[in-house]
Amino acid sequence: MLETVSQTRFRSEPKAEVKNKKINLVKARGSFVYDDAGREYIDCTAQAWSNNLGANDPRVVEAAIAQIHDIMHARPNFDTPILRKLTAKLGEIAPGRQRQVGYCLHGSLGSEMAMKLAFKNRPQARNIITLQDGYHGRSLATLGASWPHPNNPFLPIQPRVTRVPHPDPYRPRLGMDPEAESALCLELLEDTIRKGVDGPVAAVMMEPIQGNGGHIEFPRSFYKGVREICDRQGVLLIFDEVQTGFGRLGTMWASQYYDVVPDITVFGKGIGGGFPLAGILADEGLAWFEEGEEALTFGQFPPSLAAALATIEAIEADGLCEKAAGHGVYATERLKEMQTRRKLIGDVRCPGLFVAIELVRDRITKEPARWESQEVYRRGVEKGVLFGESRYLGLGNLIKIKPPLDISRELLERSLDVLDEVLGDIEESRP
Ligand code: PMP
Repeated sequence: MLETVSQTRFRSEPKAEVKNKKINLVKARGSFVYDDAGREYIDCTAQAWSNNLGANDPRVVEAAIAQIHDIMHARPNFDTPILRKLTAKLGEIAPGRQRQVGYCLHGSLGSEMAMKLAFKNRPQARNIITLQDGYHGRSLATLGASWPHPNNPFLPIQPRVTRVPHPDPYRPRLGMDPEAESALCLELLEDTIRKGVDGPVAAVMMEPIQGNGGHIEFPRSFYKGVREICDRQGVLLIFDEVQTGFGRLGTMWASQYYDVVPDITVFGKGIGGGFPLAGILADEGLAWFEEGEEALTFGQFPPSLAAALATIEAIEADGLCEKAAGHGVYATERLKEMQTRRKLIGDVRCPGLFVAIELVRDRITKEPARWESQEVYRRGVEKGVLFGESRYLGLGNLIKIKPPLDISRELLERSLDVLDEVLGDIEESRP
């Protein structure tokens, strides 16, 4: 409703036609992946596909194998020693008083579990509010809670989610400076909750930084403001930390980075060190599911739980939060300097090792440089670096750099050197 004309035009452009040849991965170790021809690539996409630790960390592999030898059956209604241990560990590192933990295998189901818990705690309410460019998964309910990206043709059949505007400091939809836009978006949010959307609202669900919607970070005032509104209106606040959790921003949770504690945190991807695991953390004051209300066959799969515990212990033992913070400072400096020489770089956004640049054809109109971003990916592959491909994310013009948190400075430097080189070549050869 409040998108500017140009934003709407950029978003509704047809899907890019280029189909990149799929790389046939046969091996992954640390910050590298290898294809069937024996080629080695620095993996700057690790976070997107679940690794905050380097690939195949031996501590994770060993913990999972040991668990397979002990017990491999997943039983939602049974306890296991590894379940108890992981739950205790998560309670220790959780934001605020989030001591209740639920497990599943996908971030999408984690988001759904969070919505269900919100409904349980607000029994009269069946509405959820999400943010316009938010992304919460690919199950039917979470597709409805996400922005209508090109691969989501299912939108009309999903009920009871209202998406409200959010500030976007680089592309302000309301044409305002970030603080003014943040204030207006907060006003709209509170107004929407107060009036109710087809009935009362149970929760506001948001990513601390929108990953798939365009790597959008909000002004700090927005996070605090949303928390205050939720408190005032008796609505729960859910942070979807599937992308930002487990050290990405240089803190264990993004909520710690922004100093705002939600009622429920959704986690996924990075927790498993490569193994499938997701779930939620919920404030100890919230009512939890009764036995049998939430029971997914593989939700508490012991090898995944063991891998997760080993992953968290490794993040702590290796000081990976601090390492991510340091890498983030370095990447920001390098990319800002690059921006002075490479006109294609419209914006640089890297809290911690959650790094992205937006490529534009013109810094005034900010026309998304889609072809160029695909070229960065393609030429990166040729030079042995996998950059985050963004054809279907945001406006299709992002380059994401999210290697494992324990990547060496030397490899991060090499990845940024390749980016610099490739951007230079593309600027010379643009059609
Ligand atoms: N929430 C967010 C913020 C995500 O980025 C994703 C996945 N990209 C999901 C939820 C869904 O996770 P999964 O693919 O594991 O279902």
